[in-house]
Amino acid sequence: MLQALVGLDAGEIAALLERLEGRAVPSFRARQVYQALYRQRVQEPSEITALPMHLRQRLADDVPFGLPRPAQSFSSADGTRRYLLQLADGRTVETVLMPEGERYTFCISSQVGCPVNCRFCLTALMGLERNLTAGEIAGQVLYVAAANGLAADVSKLNVVMMGQGEPLLNLDNVLKATRLLVDPEGVGLSERRLTVSTAGIVPKFEQLARSEVRPKLAISLNASNEEQRQQLMPITRKYHLKDLLAACRAYPLRSWEKLTFEYVLLGGVNDTDADARRVVKLLANLNCKVNLIALNPGPGIPFETPSAERVGSFQQIVRRSLPCFVRKPRGRDIYAACGQLKRMVQIEGSATAAAEGPGAQSG
Ligand code: SAH
Repeated sequence: MLQALVGLDAGEIAALLERLEGRAVPSFRARQVYQALYRQRVQEPSEITALPMHLRQRLADDVPFGLPRPAQSFSSADGTRRYLLQLADGRTVETVLMPEGERYTFCISSQVGCPVNCRFCLTALMGLERNLTAGEIAGQVLYVAAANGLAADVSKLNVVMMGQGEPLLNLDNVLKATRLLVDPEGVGLSERRLTVSTAGIVPKFEQLARSEVRPKLAISLNASNEEQRQQLMPITRKYHLKDLLAACRAYPLRSWEKLTFEYVLLGGVNDTDADARRVVKLLANLNCKVNLIALNPGPGIPFETPSAERVGSFQQIVRRSLPCFVRKPRGRDIYAACGQLKRMVQIEGSATAAAEGPGAQSG
């Protein structure tokens, strides 16, 4: 089967058109298709009206379009929307849209499920099902933007790769999706409005750093010392804290960029004043800011959300040395907040059932 249309870059579209036509195709045709996909964000090939009818038809007949389709969506009291999107193979993945005044943040997934086994995260319970393709990663933005009529002004759109998955374990596809999302001929997002978050897959930092077009880097620190971090995030037994911090110091930030460190606060576990002081020490000499996230609870997660006072006290200590913010929980009521993406479909009453794999039905 041919590769899906959404996700192809301009060169790949040109090659595809030639193959479909069996002869050379003028180069403007590829550009027309590219712009229709990524700038106009058409939802199917018949909408690529710049193309002659026979070519539209051939695309429709012979090439999977590749835009994720809505399976279900959930709306939070705070305006957040969580989408369960269906992929070509029937699997579903989650995307969250967070409106904030005039701005919109898309939280997109990079994998179906996640192989990183963080003890406080619901997505970990799914395990890894598969990597998403570049088209499936960028397609989440294309679909959700179109579904919400957000086509016009991309200066109001932010994208964070903080949904399901560990982006640095699917880096080639993440980087290709990034190129599609920031290309001014296409979607046209600003590179500054795109962030990738990692549990700290240190050996991948170099490839990310080398990439000409790349999102900003956020790192899930989540602990104030090695032992605590290895307990909470078992994958860090492989990628040690001291190597992570060395890689962060070596990371080539752009003039406008700071590293972000995320820190999930778990009541009574990693949220003491002493933890806060250790975090400050660890991050000394790094050009960075800290985002604190009070635990978003979930069934099977053996931790508690710390009190607002505890969070405030932690923040006060870090803030004496570094910019430090508390991330506002968004969409907790619909299982859309950080660490809650597990395809939960029964929200009221017992929120324990999840849509299992292919065939999650719309309700
Ligand atoms: N795998 C990547 C992308 C996930 S981003 C990463 O680890 O960075 C999701 C962010 O939410 C991470 O910083 C993660 O540590 C945090 N998180 C996970 N589970 C959480 C929970 N239950 N409550 C609050 N934050 C959580």
